[in-house]
Amino acid sequence: MTIPTVIETAHGPLHLPVYFPDATRGVVRTVDSRDLEACGVQGLVVNAFHLSTRPGAGLIKQAGGIHRFMDWRRPIASDSGGFQLMSMIRENPRYGTITRRGVHFTDLDGNRKKTLFTPERSIRLQFDLGADLVICLDDCPSPDASPQEVEAAVERTVHWAERCRAEFDRQVEMRGQREGPGPLLFGVIQGGYDRELRARCAAELLPLGFDGFGFGGWPISPDGELALDILATTAELVPDALPRFALGVGKPEHIVRCYLKGWRIFDCVLPTRDARRGRLYVFDAGSLDQVDLRSTSFYHFVYVRDEKHKREGDPISTACDCLCCRNYSLSYLHHLFDIGDPLGMRLATLHNLRFYTQLLERVSAL
Ligand SMILES: [Zn+2]
Repeated sequence: MTIPTVIETAHGPLHLPVYFPDATRGVVRTVDSRDLEACGVQGLVVNAFHLSTRPGAGLIKQAGGIHRFMDWRRPIASDSGGFQLMSMIRENPRYGTITRRGVHFTDLDGNRKKTLFTPERSIRLQFDLGADLVICLDDCPSPDASPQEVEAAVERTVHWAERCRAEFDRQVEMRGQREGPGPLLFGVIQGGYDRELRARCAAELLPLGFDGFGFGGWPISPDGELALDILATTAELVPDALPRFALGVGKPEHIVRCYLKGWRIFDCVLPTRDARRGRLYVFDAGSLDQVDLRSTSFYHFVYVRDEKHKREGDPISTACDCLCCRNYSLSYLHHLFDIGDPLGMRLATLHNLRFYTQLLERVSAL
């Protein structure tokens, strides 16, 4: 069996490998849907929990779904949002508790409202949004969790996955078959850095019949390195026919290394966040076809605020065809950041996203 190179969705195909920018709250900050299309972005990830609090899943459903709401015509994956919720609770227990039933969350930063976030609720939310790629609620332990805590998280992840599967099937039946492919359901494999627990989690999830699998947990180990061994082990646990989603993996060199281990879908806040802070990604080679992704370093950063760019008449990169590089000098971009104009962040974001779409095109040729 070979690894698929395309996933069909109701909003068109996803050509693998693919990188999804994070549109957590229904927007990739500073850019709009036309901008994203122009960069060659194939799909986005939204956060079901965040959207359910603002503006509310009901409002988005009434607006015709998240695609119509943000006028994005290509595929959307929705993250259950459990990862953020659980991180908050584990850092500060006043935010709530995690039980077998679900996540009991108190909104300490807002109206102090208490919500019970269950696997069923997470799936219903993702259906209300109209996501093409639905991700199960899973229990992600903190990176320094004890072996007992990791084992408990695996047990809970499997239990929640069974409930997600059942609710997903109920929703498909209730809402009726639309034309074209329906949404896909991805399970998430937990197990920390323990190979046996990863294997056990995968063995219990596989019979539930998911359309793909995500890497659950922290892809970056506590010492800051990519946890490539456990990523490789986890990839091997998934049959090649099912797409593998390296949730949260996104540094360019990490994408390359994970791709070589079988991972095909990536999402990460880094390139867009870096862009807003004036950190730009540039391939080392003068032209794209000279980029050697297998070398230890194939790109570098340009810090737009650096004084040395004040009079730089060239664009960020002559090898880039983004809106910014085609039309504007680094000097102009430096000026925009200097005066704090939002256009600077938009142009920088477009550049970094184009770097990523070009990177993924190159990766697919490896
Ligand atoms: Zn560019």
